[in-house]
Amino acid sequence: MQTSEEDVRRLLTAIGDDPFRPGLIETPARVVKANAEIFAHTGETTFTDYKLFEVATDTDMVVVADIPFYSMCEHHLLPFFGTVTVAYQPKQQVIGLSKIPRLVDWAARRPSVQEGLTTLIADELSRIVSAEGVAVHISARHMCMEMRGINRPGTTTTTQVTRGIFKTDAMLRQEFQQQVH
Ligand SMILES: [Zn+2]
Repeated sequence: MQTSEEDVRRLLTAIGDDPFRPGLIETPARVVKANAEIFAHTGETTFTDYKLFEVATDTDMVVVADIPFYSMCEHHLLPFFGTVTVAYQPKQQVIGLSKIPRLVDWAARRPSVQEGLTTLIADELSRIVSAEGVAVHISARHMCMEMRGINRPGTTTTTQVTRGIFKTDAMLRQEFQQQVH
């Protein structure tokens, strides 16, 4: 599935502009291309681009902090963006470190809500790597809250999902929280 240039011209007409004026003539083609990138993983339920490595059983918590992401809210198709911090307590295997930002990118490139994005990253990481626990924290700004609606520029929304040992081990959860702030 792809947006067609005709879809974009129809939208431009609907908002009261002329899709054939010089400034907009190339726009439909650009929007089609941008949408293909921004929504690249829409509908995909499993992340497959990773490798696992065996490690010692006493390996400490793995944290990848402040991974930037850009997504589109599913209510208004306006951007929301910010940073994701992902942590897990390995059992016997770890996932290649560079694959965690890839997982975030994969999850973000579809229409979503922040809570859903947080859960999707936690679910996929839990499925991929056998871990004692997983924690995901997202801090984001929503253009649908800043450009319209309640019009509150600069407001940050935070969401968090914890699984396994991060639910039961207060010390570990606290250690994770320190990485977030
Ligand atoms: Zn929205």
